[in-house]
Amino acid sequence: MTLLHVEDLNAFYGDFQALFGVGLAVGEGECIAVIGSNGAGKSTFLRSVAGLHRARSAKRLSFAGKEIGTMAASEVAAFGMTLVPEGRRLFSSLTVEENLTIGRSAGRSGYWNLARVYELFPALPELARRPVTRLSGGQQQMVAVGRALMTNPTLLLCDEISLGLAPVVVKGMYENFRRVRGQGTALVVVEQDIGQALSVADRIYCLRRGAIALSGRPAEFTRDQIAAAYFGVAEA
Ligand code: ATP
Repeated sequence: MTLLHVEDLNAFYGDFQALFGVGLAVGEGECIAVIGSNGAGKSTFLRSVAGLHRARSAKRLSFAGKEIGTMAASEVAAFGMTLVPEGRRLFSSLTVEENLTIGRSAGRSGYWNLARVYELFPALPELARRPVTRLSGGQQQMVAVGRALMTNPTLLLCDEISLGLAPVVVKGMYENFRRVRGQGTALVVVEQDIGQALSVADRIYCLRRGAIALSGRPAEFTRDQIAAAYFGVAEA
């Protein structure tokens, strides 16, 4: 069954149009990667879908069979779709555990709770009472993902979680996503790193200048075809 169905999505910043007729579908438990260079519209896409960017219109924006185009972000989260935003957006005055616990406000129960998040990220329990400002970038990203998992999402949207992190930390994060998927959660990951995206995704969408330039299963394309869609250069 299709979990997220986006058809003809357009998004704006004032008079500036950032997305042009974007269509995308995510099936239950699927992992989708949205790739594209700086400014291609990846964050705008995720934020529009999650109800955080409201200057947008779509022919269809439905999640789990329900129209979500008019819902606020908090309603969308309560319905089972949660965004891990670019730059993490943690509450800087709060501790690790307080940030994690905020995920409970979505009011959804399920597999993920504090104990399971701590088990997924064994580095976090000993940091539980520490303000998040005193964590490394990688630790902060664990808290951001953990907080999102605490909402027990059926679809987790991740905006460039590898940005600024050491390769070994990124590798660990993506390994954890396998376990997240094992619990039946579908994923949309936004990445600038094509290699990372191809290694995890069932299907990819490449955004260029706000429009879908290529979509399909990674095996359907050569690296050159993907690079051509990504950079907008002619194929050799
Ligand atoms: P990045 O990888 O740099 O985060 P992105 O693919 O996520 O890029 P967006 O951040 O969605 O791209 O930006 C898409 C377009 O919208 C860009 O041209 C950007 O300059 C513009 N844009 C983004 N945020 C704003 C804003 N707050 N006001 C005006 N224009 C914006």
